[in-house]
Amino acid sequence: MDEPGTGLDGNALAGPLGLIFTPDMTTAAGRCGSCGRDGMLARAPLYADAPGAVLRCPFCGEVTLRLVTAPDRYWLDLPAGTSLMIPRG
Ligand SMILES: [Zn+2]
Repeated sequence: MDEPGTGLDGNALAGPLGLIFTPDMTTAAGRCGSCGRDGMLARAPLYADAPGAVLRCPFCGEVTLRLVTAPDRYWLDLPAGTSLMIPRG
């Protein structure tokens, strides 16, 4: 797949995700619910100017994670079939 988006990747979400999850989420891997391929969350293309922050699968381009941050809460959306593998520290 050609380089999509803004040139940012999942590393840019380390701070916001670190507020929700204790482990360093840039070390997590994700399985795409669309194509089933695995990839490091940190390397997924990030669309930071979407409604919320959106990570897309680097292989098929489908949305794999959406994080919306509000003053009093977070919304974390993982599309159907998508999973995260988070290493335990
Ligand atoms: Zn995919």
